[in-house]
Amino acid sequence: SAKRTGRNLTQRFRPALDVQDSPQLGLLNDLRNALAVGGQLELYYQPQYRLEDDRLAGLEALLRWRHPRDGMISPGDFIPLAERHGLMATLGDWVIDQALAQMAHWQRMEMPEATVWINISAMQLFQGDLETALASGLARHRVPARLLGLELTESVLLDERAGDIAPRLEKLRRQGHGIAIDDFGTGYSSLGYLKHLPVDKLKLDRAFIHALPGDRADAAIVCAVLAMARGLELEVIAEGVETEAQRDFLLAQGCAQVQGFFYARPRPAAQLEAQWREQASAGLSAQGKRVAEA
Ligand code: C2E
Ligand code: MG
Ligand code: MG
Ligand code: MG
Repeated sequence: SAKRTGRNLTQRFRPALDVQDSPQLGLLNDLRNALAVGGQLELYYQPQYRLEDDRLAGLEALLRWRHPRDGMISPGDFIPLAERHGLMATLGDWVIDQALAQMAHWQRMEMPEATVWINISAMQLFQGDLETALASGLARHRVPARLLGLELTESVLLDERAGDIAPRLEKLRRQGHGIAIDDFGTGYSSLGYLKHLPVDKLKLDRAFIHALPGDRADAAIVCAVLAMARGLELEVIAEGVETEAQRDFLLAQGCAQVQGFFYARPRPAAQLEAQWREQASAGLSAQGKRVAEA
């Protein structure tokens, strides 16, 4: 992959310079600093909807970093860096605490109760103590575990460094957390693991959604995943829904939930609250039907 090539090149051609000479390591220091000083990291939230009635089904928390000099840096750029350099457990703990603090705030404000799904990195499973971070966060913020869902990719679930993940997932589920497989279908793994791993939900990767409904191969794959998920009694959410035609196709095929720019972009908590207040004052329950994107 491009990522691997990039790393190899860096390793091969990097002479023994001061760490500050590598822009990547400069960024790493900035990230350490961001975690220490606060105010630069933020969670955005992207709503997820039930297709049958357009009601809010949940929110995905997505990390954002407003770098003081370079502006917004995408998680795709700094999360791999944090993972490579031992910072992901700390960053992951920050995400857990931040999401729970936000949910506690929403509870106090009587905002709609929605499950918040956070992304869990492999490093959190084998470097940090994910279970402890979750349990202490839930207790501290008095949020029930059923309102905090965990998204893990196939590569995370099947990473050997994480050990036997099934009993750990089972324990997290017993505590009440929902478990979703993120980017489902892109992991190059055998489907057999679905028999053994206790999960609740598949997140169909947006790569399969993008060319719907015209692309016959993608349409066939999506239909097959939906049929399989019904048989396995797993929920399915389609990611990256950008057009009405995609939505209509997914609805016709019986996909239960959707998330994507067609419905809503990820946004700061304050914007979400403003939208909920507006809906409430318009006489709709804040859980009610979505309003069209501005
Ligand atoms: P992901 O978990 O698969 O998140 C979905 C990504 O798709 C998000 O990108 C979201 O903004 C984007 N997206 C949502 N709807 C659409 C759409 O309709 N079209 C398109 N083209 N994109 C859409 P984002 O926020 O840049 O995050 C990228 C990835 O970074 C995430 O993929 C996740 O793997 C990782 N990530 C983000 N936040 C965290 C975090 O707190 N912890 C960990 N470990 N990873 C995170
Ligand atoms: Mg995700
Ligand atoms: Mg995803
Ligand atoms: Mg992804």
